[in-house]
Amino acid sequence: MKADLLSMFPQELEDLTLSLGQPKYRGTQIFEGLYRGIRDIDQFTSLPKAFKAVLSENAFIPTATIKRKLVSQIDGTVKYLFQLHDGETVESVFMQYKHGNTMCISTQVGCRMGCAFCASTKAGLVRSLYPSEMLLQILEAQRDLDKRVSNIVLMGMGEPLDNYDNVIKFLRLVNQEKGLNIGLRHISLSTCGLVDKIDRLADENLPVTLSVSLHAPNDEKRKRTMPIANKYSIKELLAACNRFINKTGRRISFEYALISGENDSVDDAKELGLLLGGMLCHVNLIPVNPIKEKNFKRSEKNAIKVFTETLETYKINVTVRRKLGADINASCGQLRAEETNN
Ligand code: SAH
Repeated sequence: MKADLLSMFPQELEDLTLSLGQPKYRGTQIFEGLYRGIRDIDQFTSLPKAFKAVLSENAFIPTATIKRKLVSQIDGTVKYLFQLHDGETVESVFMQYKHGNTMCISTQVGCRMGCAFCASTKAGLVRSLYPSEMLLQILEAQRDLDKRVSNIVLMGMGEPLDNYDNVIKFLRLVNQEKGLNIGLRHISLSTCGLVDKIDRLADENLPVTLSVSLHAPNDEKRKRTMPIANKYSIKELLAACNRFINKTGRRISFEYALISGENDSVDDAKELGLLLGGMLCHVNLIPVNPIKEKNFKRSEKNAIKVFTETLETYKINVTVRRKLGADINASCGQLRAEETNN
């Protein structure tokens, strides 16, 4: 199998060039060229012709091309559908915030977690993405918009911790000084709660923010929308979150999609408050984004307000997610579904 150059660390590229009979610094030249936008081995003007031929026999550069692009007229949010080398497609969203440009990227084509409210999982998992394919979503958006991305959220299609090794490598690559050089503290990783992987992540020494999709105040309700709740109880999940907090010293962010009549009552808020009160955490309320096949309705404005205020009485830091790109259906999974008729 040919080596995927964009999924490699500078050190690995140096080892590759050495193994192909070239000095180490060729590896650095390749690394830097990739981040300047080279997507074809022939385009490396700094490399000798004969070496480029050998390199092409042993390695390739993956690509992501823009298949569709939607630009919000309201807030400048841009949604991309990227086509990968094998024809599969993934979605990414570019958002402008005061604190910087944020890219929401996908980590898998499809997803096998099966959450009832989520558009990305309807057709199951097709395949996981390589580190290069996560990087490309950022690199190609930056190039297309001529803007720099300073923050990343792994909240697009897929379950990042179900593609563990590739995601960890991506995080280390994105942080390379001569690459994108994005600080790990500016990256959020969102998971539906794979307990064993949360424990592994805590040991990686990567100061990213962990977001945990909770979406229910008890196991019974959580099982109704999130199959992962059959594998791990909320108690086990929160124990892993506490271990993560103790190890990393970092605050966890809990995602809670408010679904009208399902998980948005005052009693739900109180139960959630009791669960999370005293934890080093933050709760992010997301009025659910209705998807075609399911009848989930977003909570009423007043219900959101009461829910927020109730949670705050437990001294929990709460925010309601601001909706960006409302006119372009910016939540992940829906554009690809449209395209593939899934
Ligand atoms: N698999 C990861 C990350 C991808 S989803 C996870 O489960 O966290 C990113 C966030 O969007 C998750 O909190 C997910 O539960 C939420 N989400 C998915 N579909 C949604 C919808 N229709 N409305 C609101 N939030 C949704």
